[in-house]
Amino acid sequence: MVAQQIRSKNSSTRRKGGRNGYEFPSVIETDWQLPKDLEVKPFAGKRRYMGTDGYSIFGRLEGRPVNPAKWKEPPHRTFVNLPCKPTSVPEMEMIDPNAMLGFIRRCGFLYAISQSDDPRMARGMSRLGYSDHLNGADDRLMPVEGSRNLQSISELALGLSLKSLLEDPTVPLSQALLKFVWQSNDRQILADFAQHASRGLASYCDFETGEIITTIKSVWALVCLLIVRDRAAGRTAVCANPECPAPYFLKSRKTQKICEAGECVAWAQRNYARKWWRENESKAAKGVAK
Ligand SMILES: [Zn+2]
Repeated sequence: MVAQQIRSKNSSTRRKGGRNGYEFPSVIETDWQLPKDLEVKPFAGKRRYMGTDGYSIFGRLEGRPVNPAKWKEPPHRTFVNLPCKPTSVPEMEMIDPNAMLGFIRRCGFLYAISQSDDPRMARGMSRLGYSDHLNGADDRLMPVEGSRNLQSISELALGLSLKSLLEDPTVPLSQALLKFVWQSNDRQILADFAQHASRGLASYCDFETGEIITTIKSVWALVCLLIVRDRAAGRTAVCANPECPAPYFLKSRKTQKICEAGECVAWAQRNYARKWWRENESKAAKGVAK
């Protein structure tokens, strides 16, 4: 399969952080297949975290390589803004199944279970009730369970390190974790997340371009790396419009407070006009009083 490449636009010739070494241009190469015959079905496994409901997304890999050049919006921004619904457990939430389906159709499975030749793995999958659903080698299953919401993750992160949070089964691979990191200014939290995002990365140097190429195999890995890159560049932000339908956005200028959606621009203009009137009305009133 031909892997697709994402070149870093904000690569700089100046090294940040004062590290000793040589500078190389680098490329993240995506290497996974898009699925077909996608279907949302009831939760396939036996385990559900903290008794929340869940669902499964089934599909088959069709040998069509993912192509990031076709995405209008980068996958980290799309994923953190997918709508969630509350579950029967107050601190847990779940991504809307249809929104998740649309994301997978475009970007691929965030993570997926397939048949395994490893007998131990196969036994574990059968115990959890997954293997009954996987017949062909290309069959994939993504079980989605409830995960901690942003408030719950933020509260836990105050008491624990992000590293120990990532060991909690209701946290890893969750949207709320990414929302939390998206707006965190805590150096330790960002360092722990960068370490999570860098797990298992393998690079080589391309003989034609001299670039360091890092091939990644999952949407989750790409989403995490893009968040680390854009957080480091100070680009990740949350739209100031409380009604914004997709509030997690990437700033194109340092001072940007609202996302580029038409309704948010209009909201900011209305707000500005109101503020202007309030200030000028009182000035006018003072003027009259004198
Ligand atoms: Zn907005």
